[in-house]
Amino acid sequence: MLQYKRILLKLSGEALAGDEGYGIDARMVDRYAEEIKKALELGAEIALVIGGGNIFRGLSSAAATMDRVQADHMGMLATVINSLAFQDALERKGVFTRLMSAIKMEQVAEPFIRRRAIRHLEKGRVVIFGGGTGNPYFTTDTAASLRAVEIEADVIVKGTRVDGVYSSDPEKNPAAEMYRNISYIDVLKKNLRVMDLTAITLCRENLLPIVVMNMNVEGNFVRLLNGETVGTLVNQ
Ligand code: UDP
Repeated sequence: MLQYKRILLKLSGEALAGDEGYGIDARMVDRYAEEIKKALELGAEIALVIGGGNIFRGLSSAAATMDRVQADHMGMLATVINSLAFQDALERKGVFTRLMSAIKMEQVAEPFIRRRAIRHLEKGRVVIFGGGTGNPYFTTDTAASLRAVEIEADVIVKGTRVDGVYSSDPEKNPAAEMYRNISYIDVLKKNLRVMDLTAITLCRENLLPIVVMNMNVEGNFVRLLNGETVGTLVNQ
């Protein structure tokens, strides 16, 4: 029995960058695609949202002199580039996929249509949601929460390079402690950077559990779906 049947997996753009810190490292994409394939084989339904930070962010120094909306449009297009890379990696492994974009680009991706997205999932296709929410001033964390709620996902999994949610940044503070379970309200009160406030609030209002886990540990994703304790669970 799967712990979660329909999962929305959120990966940051940086996760795709590997050691370079920018751009797309095909080996990283391939590694994540493999984890997703294994999860599908268990019978899970998987939707994906990938960030764009490895290519462009609306709130970066490169965009400092730019109009914010213009810069955010660039960021959203960056997520489509990452999504295409992911789609390619999955399809090469024999996984059926559909890329749905929040910004219309018919030659490249289907438009996002909720009912169609759910149908794809039911048919065992991995649905990749590109283009964020389609709106500036939002993030892909918020896009992930929104899509997860829309498709009635059982959980939103935030795949990171740390093991879960810590009391402070574990990459800076070695004494940081990891939580196994924490409530939405404590995440907000303690100002823990699980996801941005809009995203957390949306999850909280819709009682959508969030799991933060290390996506760089092989087999972790499957262990989570099999009901093992992996990462940090954020819920009521
Ligand atoms: N973005 C946006 N609206 C959205 C999602 C993303 O404007 O709904 C833009 C924003 O400029 C953001 C960039 O796309 O900085 C990349 O997304 P994000 O920073 O969330 O990527 P990640 O940090 O996950 O790599």
